[in-house]
Amino acid sequence: MSDILPLDDLRDQTAKKRDPKRTGGGDGTKFAEIAHQIYQDNRANEQTRPLLLAFAYAVTLAPREEETKLWQAINKALNPSSRKGTARELIRLDVPRYEPPGYQGGSDRLDKVCVGPRVRPHPHDDFLNGLNICGATAQEKVVEKLPETGWHKNHWFCPRHRDHLLRVREQVREQNAAAPAPIPNRGGLLPCYFKSDWVRIYRWALNHDKWDPPAYGVCADDWPVPGQDPIPQRARLRLVLGDAQPQETAP
Ligand SMILES: [Zn+2]
Repeated sequence: MSDILPLDDLRDQTAKKRDPKRTGGGDGTKFAEIAHQIYQDNRANEQTRPLLLAFAYAVTLAPREEETKLWQAINKALNPSSRKGTARELIRLDVPRYEPPGYQGGSDRLDKVCVGPRVRPHPHDDFLNGLNICGATAQEKVVEKLPETGWHKNHWFCPRHRDHLLRVREQVREQNAAAPAPIPNRGGLLPCYFKSDWVRIYRWALNHDKWDPPAYGVCADDWPVPGQDPIPQRARLRLVLGDAQPQETAP
């Protein structure tokens, strides 16, 4: 069994002579380049960033004797005792998808807030007074699907404004039926950095053979970002993962 170094020891290790057991790996410069890109990538979060780094480490530096050890190196680099999750769990979080507003809480101040016309001033809320909306806690919403992006816009209404809800629901019916599939806005980071059969790997992570990638592709770099100028294609270093079968290893 070869020694796999934790990421903390990386700097020391790269300064030393190469481990003679490593065959063809051990490119510290390449790791540094790709790690820099990963740290700069503000689409990554506290779960996907360690995953991307573990992949980069496993591909460029981890001692491996054969291709099938790649997934073991990834799982080991993730250090299961840190409770961040296994590679499979973290890859599941990177599945390309669209998350509508208000999904998993979110930070939208108007989430579950009635947008019907204001009935009386809010005694302590200048924000809601400024918007001239009801502002009561809302239980029901109408989802409007935007014609260009397919993204959702929620219109919330309280029971007092139920007539408004029914009217808006009618108003968006045709538009919603004609709306395109939404442009994905989450996940899809692994394919930005590593070349592999990602549809197969995401299906494995989801345990779902019928999962279909978004029409815009699996790679987040390829998705248009609504409301922004077209982002310049980043000159990314993409590493080849090869045909290794994803696998869970026992901790
Ligand atoms: Zn209301």
